[in-house]
Amino acid sequence: MTVKKNFINGKWVDGHAHLENLNPSDTSDVVGHFSIAEPNQVLDAIEAAKKSQSKLAAMTPQQRFDALDFIGSEILLRIDELADLLAREEGKALSDAKAEVNRASQIFKFFAGESLRIQGEILASTRPNMTVEITREPVGVVTVISPWNFPIAIPAWKIAPALAYGNAVLFKPSELAPASAWALTEIISRAGLPSGSFNLLMGYGRDLGPALINDSRVDAVTFTGSEGTGRLVASACVNRKGHIARFQLEMGGKNPLVVLDDADVDVAVECAVNGAFFSTGQRCTASSRIIVTNEIHDEFVSKLVSRMSQLKVGDARASDTIVGPVIDQNQLDKDLQFIQIGKDEGAHLSYGGVHHSLISGKKGYYLEPTLFTNASNQMRICREEIFGPIAAVIRVKDAEEAMQVANDTPYGLSAGVCTTSLKQASKFKKQLVAGMVMINAPTAGVDPHVPFGGRKSSSFGTREQGRYASEFYTVVKTTYLNP
Ligand code: NAD
Repeated sequence: MTVKKNFINGKWVDGHAHLENLNPSDTSDVVGHFSIAEPNQVLDAIEAAKKSQSKLAAMTPQQRFDALDFIGSEILLRIDELADLLAREEGKALSDAKAEVNRASQIFKFFAGESLRIQGEILASTRPNMTVEITREPVGVVTVISPWNFPIAIPAWKIAPALAYGNAVLFKPSELAPASAWALTEIISRAGLPSGSFNLLMGYGRDLGPALINDSRVDAVTFTGSEGTGRLVASACVNRKGHIARFQLEMGGKNPLVVLDDADVDVAVECAVNGAFFSTGQRCTASSRIIVTNEIHDEFVSKLVSRMSQLKVGDARASDTIVGPVIDQNQLDKDLQFIQIGKDEGAHLSYGGVHHSLISGKKGYYLEPTLFTNASNQMRICREEIFGPIAAVIRVKDAEEAMQVANDTPYGLSAGVCTTSLKQASKFKKQLVAGMVMINAPTAGVDPHVPFGGRKSSSFGTREQGRYASEFYTVVKTTYLNP
C-alpha cells in the first residue's frame, strides 16, 4: 500500500497514521491513503516556514511570477487527469470538476501577474522636507485551512496570493479530500520555491488545527469551512499566547434567489437548477431559498420540477451525470434528516428526497435533487445551512416582501434576482445584504479575478481573490523620510 506523504521543509515525510480516501460514487474504490501529520511535525513545518519566508520574499517579483505561472500552466496541462481525480474523491460531476481545475489554473496565473504589480504610494508630508512612503510587505507565515467542497480551487485562491506577496504557507486541506491537495502540492514542490516556504500537513482539523494556529510564529490564518469551525478558529487566533493572529473566515450561506413576476421564467429556472443542484448543492453559494412572487409562482415551480426530472444522478465520472453523490455518510445523514425536518415542518415535498444506495451497480451516497414548496422563511430548512442538493420555494406576494425575506437570514454570501426590470434589478442590487449579487445569473459560479466573500455570518475579514486579496496577504508600512 502506497501512502502519500506530507511535505515539510522541502521533503516528503511520513506521519504516524494515514487517512483512507473513499470515492463517494463507489465506496469500494479507495482513491488513496494519505499520511496524517503529527503535531511535532507541525512544529517542524512552522520552523521551516519561518526560516524560509525571508528567502521567498527576497525572490524577485519575476521569479515569483515564474513559479506561480509554472504551477498554473501545469494544472492546465493536466486538467483532465486532475478533474478526474477531483470527481473521484469529491463526487462533483466531471464537467464541474473540470471547471474547478481550470479555475485553479486561472487563479495561479492571475496571481503570477499580481506578484509583478505590488504597489505603493508616495505622498507629500504635512511637515517640511518630509516625504511619506506607503509600501506593502508580506505578513509572514500563513496557515491555510480549507474545506472539501472545492478541493483544488479554494486552496489555489489562498495559496497563490500568499506566495505572490511573499508569505510562507502551511497548508491543511480537508481530511475528506486530500488527493487534490496532494496533487497540487506535488506540482508546487517543483516550482522552484525555497525549501520550507510551502508545507502540506494532512489530517484532522481538530488535531492539527490548534498546533497550526496557537504558535505565535504563525502570523495569519485564512480559513474556509463551516461557521462552527470558523468561530473556533477565530477564538484560537484571538486567545492564543503572544500576538493575535490576523485572520480571515469564509463560512456558510443560505443564499436567496428571488424570482419576480416580470422574470424570464426560463432564465429563472436555469438559474435555480444551476444554483441549487449543480455540484450536488455542496457550494457555499448554492441557492437554497428560492423566493418567488405570486403571479409567476405556479408556472415557475412547474417548469422547475420538470427541469429537475432531467438532472441525471449518478457516478460523478460518468459523462451524462449532472448530480454526483454527496461527499460522505455524515453529509447524507444530515441531508436526509433535513428532508424529514422539512416534511415535519409542513413544507410540501415537490420533487426528489430519495436516497439511492446503488446506481449502476455502484454503492454510493446518491441523493435525488430535492425541492420543497409551500415553505416559510422561518422553517429550519430555510434558516440553517444544509449543504446538499436541497432547495425550498417560498411564495411571497410582491417584490417588497421578496426583498424582506431575502435579507431575513443570518447569512449574507451571495444573493440573486431574476427580473427583466432595470428598476427592480437596481433596487435589489442596492438593498440585498450580501457580498455578491447576481442579476439573472445563478447565485453560485464566480469569476476568478474579482473579490469573493460575504457579510454577517458568512464571512469575517477582508475579501478573498482578485487584487483585493492583497489586503489580507500584505501589511502596510508607512515610512516618513527626512533626507
Ligand atoms: P469544516 O468546518 O468541517 O472543515 C473545514 C476545515 O477546517 C477542514 O480542513 C477541517 O479539517 C478544519 N478544522 C476542523 N476543526 C478544526 C479546528 N478545531 N481548528 C482548525 N481547523 C479545523 O467544513 P467542511 O465540512 O470541510 O466544509 C463545508 C463548509 O464550508 C460549509 O459550511 C460551506 O458553506 C463552507 N464553505 C464556505 C465557502 C466560502 O467561501 N464562504 C466556500 C466553500 C465552503
